[in-house]
Amino acid sequence: MGKIVDVKFTLKEYRYDKPFHIVGSISSGTTNIEIELILDSGARGYGEASPSFRVNGEKVEVLFEMRNFVRETIMGMDVRNYRRIFDLTDKMFATPSLKAAIQCAVLDAFSEEIGVPVYQILGGAKNTIETDKTVSIDTLENRIKEATDIFKDGFRVIKVKVGENLSEDIEAMEEIYKVTKGAKYIVDANMGYTPKQAVEFAKKIYRKGIDISVFEQPVLATDISGLKFVRFNSPFPVAADESAHTKYDVLRLIREEAVDYVNIKLMKSGISDALAIVEMVKTANLHLMLGCMAESSIGVNQSVHFSLGTGAFDFHDLDSHLMLNEETFRGKFKQKGPKMFVEE
Ligand code: MN
Repeated sequence: MGKIVDVKFTLKEYRYDKPFHIVGSISSGTTNIEIELILDSGARGYGEASPSFRVNGEKVEVLFEMRNFVRETIMGMDVRNYRRIFDLTDKMFATPSLKAAIQCAVLDAFSEEIGVPVYQILGGAKNTIETDKTVSIDTLENRIKEATDIFKDGFRVIKVKVGENLSEDIEAMEEIYKVTKGAKYIVDANMGYTPKQAVEFAKKIYRKGIDISVFEQPVLATDISGLKFVRFNSPFPVAADESAHTKYDVLRLIREEAVDYVNIKLMKSGISDALAIVEMVKTANLHLMLGCMAESSIGVNQSVHFSLGTGAFDFHDLDSHLMLNEETFRGKFKQKGPKMFVEE
């Protein structure tokens, strides 16, 4: 028992409650792919791919056309030997979110087959985590309102998107700080600054007495020396997001001492590389956060279990399902405000 006897791909469309604005992109919705695996026992496993052209160069149409290949490749394989399926799907460098969806569906099916939740298969390190919520780029007034609402809803880590306009960003950060005192901040420039602008931003914010817990991807993904420049010239910890897809990217970031944090997203790395990155980053005495693309509750579920299982993450940016118009919550976890947990 445990053999894969069917693989189904379904396109799923979701819309954001309000347009999601980050540097150079305003997104109104997403088309994701849901993968369902059926085992010979009748057990079912689910995974979700949320493709990103901006980060991964992926197009959902291309991923969907891979369905016959995926089917032929994993049909008949046994999910109890999931590393064999991970090794095969590790070749999918051009479609990392599809690799993630397959690997997650395999673990989910294995979990259903043996009656052990995925977070325990991965180690069961924790049973509760806390997520941030994101203030996207907007007018000053709307940024303040959004931050106020997020704080009122109980979130104590607020992610602030910046990177399009340095002086507006500094002003927004100051005003957000005034209405959310006691919160921690993750500031994400999504590659929008030059290294010198990023240092200017950090120094000005620091002088105003505002602390930033993580300064995410201040500069271009390929500018590793720029990341290092910001790391050693700003008072805040610097994170790689767009610069860190595979374990090979992270090996280089560690060797070049370019960052303090790595933002892992399953959609960039899949479970297999994410597991390797966790060990590499911990071994190098650096820190981890866990983020998402535009996953629904099925996809966010994958990340919640990954984090609970490994227990490796200081911060979580798992809020996409809170912003999409999903009719039914389908995660195998519970959520109360920022808290995401499983009951033992
Ligand atoms: Mn980011």
